[in-house]
Amino acid sequence: MNTHTAPDTSDVERVAVEPVNAKRNRQPLYAPRRKIFPKRAEGRFRRFKWIVMLVTLGIYYLAPWIRWDRGPYAPDQAILVDLASRRFFFFFIEIWPQEFYYVAGLLVMAGFGLFLVTSAVGRAWCGYACPQTVWVDLFLVVERAIEGDRNARMKLDASPWSAEKLRKRLLKHIVWLMIGVATGGAWIFYFSDAPTLLVSLFTGTAPAVAYVTVAILASTTYVLGGLMREQVCTYMCPWPRIQGAMLDENSLVVTYNDWRGEQRSRHAKKAQAQGQPVGDCVDCNACVAVCPMGIDIRDGQQMECITCALCIDACDGVMDKLGKPRGLIAYATLSEYSANMTLATDGGTTAVQPARVRNEDGSFIAAVRHFNWRVVFRPRVLFYATVWVAIGIAILIHLSLRERLELNVVHDRNPQYVLESNGSIRNGYTLRILNMVPAPRQVTLTMQGLDGATMRIPELSKDDGRQFVIDAGPDAATSLKVFVTRSAGTAAADGFLFMIEDSEHKDRAIYKAAFNSPGETK
Ligand code: SF4
Ligand code: SF4
Repeated sequence: MNTHTAPDTSDVERVAVEPVNAKRNRQPLYAPRRKIFPKRAEGRFRRFKWIVMLVTLGIYYLAPWIRWDRGPYAPDQAILVDLASRRFFFFFIEIWPQEFYYVAGLLVMAGFGLFLVTSAVGRAWCGYACPQTVWVDLFLVVERAIEGDRNARMKLDASPWSAEKLRKRLLKHIVWLMIGVATGGAWIFYFSDAPTLLVSLFTGTAPAVAYVTVAILASTTYVLGGLMREQVCTYMCPWPRIQGAMLDENSLVVTYNDWRGEQRSRHAKKAQAQGQPVGDCVDCNACVAVCPMGIDIRDGQQMECITCALCIDACDGVMDKLGKPRGLIAYATLSEYSANMTLATDGGTTAVQPARVRNEDGSFIAAVRHFNWRVVFRPRVLFYATVWVAIGIAILIHLSLRERLELNVVHDRNPQYVLESNGSIRNGYTLRILNMVPAPRQVTLTMQGLDGATMRIPELSKDDGRQFVIDAGPDAATSLKVFVTRSAGTAAADGFLFMIEDSEHKDRAIYKAAFNSPGETK
């Protein structure tokens, strides 16, 4: 027998609340991929992207082949990371390992450059210059050339396997792989003399690491650019997450101006005849068809949007056909968009009313805000630009003033001094002279201070003296053993200077050395 009595719940208030992760609403962390077949876009942004693609790919593939005459003692490749001799050559600039701070400065500049571009024009880097975007564009060019534009590719994809489908798919993947190999190949040319390495690659005499690097880069280019495409931007790249912190209400982003586009209608005339409000969007989906990320910008700002602006081109084309002003989808700031939305919705109290932003003749009312270039030059952007330029100028000044002669001295510690039979005291030093120009030169080594003391350099001469001329090899470090002897009875001194000087190049380096004597070792 059931003795359970239902409780009286009339005093228990039911709270209207919905858990944010309600089981019925949960989405899988990784949604299965839906294939995207971007349609070819045409317009000013597409043309600009073609130019950026040609310039960036041209630089990447051709830069290692540019020659730069540095004389007989240095490589003649304009851009070279010479791992063997630990040098970085960039046209007339040569960077030694101890000058790595230049590279650090360039990395800081790259970071500020990214902040600058993002705060000024949103994710322009992602949309135009990111290697992933550029290579995906290139792979899409190949795909379109072999399989056709969107409709033909969709048809081919849905069709059963046939000889023709196999031929097209094979050809496409072979060309993609060839692009991958060329990409990996170009990369290794930055690390060795390109013409020599190319020959050794084809004759099978290149080092194993060269083949392994080409194989790794070829496969990653093929997989990321050909197979994964938009998935890399959505799931792998951290930049979409970081950039949110850099945008503000005055950053330019690709925006669907629903204040003039809604209510969208495929049958605008009919809807208007029925007295319904009609916006400029004819719901043709041209903007979605060209999107390489497969999204609908009309749904608002989305992390997936790389701001490539191809949807702007597509929509501008539609507006041209309809005889309406361009810019239904446009680069816009959040502040101008919000101001126009406020106008169109009467401060957010109604749905979008296109009539509220238009005059009788269809033109926009004067209160509608349009893009003004002044927002790009706001304090935050100017701050980033100033820091970027300041770092660049500091690097250039430092580069132009840097010494190309360096002197390092190691004082012998064992023994710290030698007391000779005549009462004089001898200290030993190892001098390392760095000649950082790609030409041999003679440098004069002199002692300053420690009056009465003399140097002897057994490698050069049996004589003692206070000045020697040393041959410094091109782009190399020269090590010398130097013995300094102080006669008995001369006054002790705290230290003295080794100075090397190349009067021809006006380079000079000085090192303050200590001199050890009995009872006063340092
Ligand atoms: S929504 Fe427009 S700007 Fe954004 S990725 Fe797609 S086409 Fe490019
Ligand atoms: S291309 Fe323009 S008109 Fe066509 S659906 Fe997109 S926003 Fe609307």
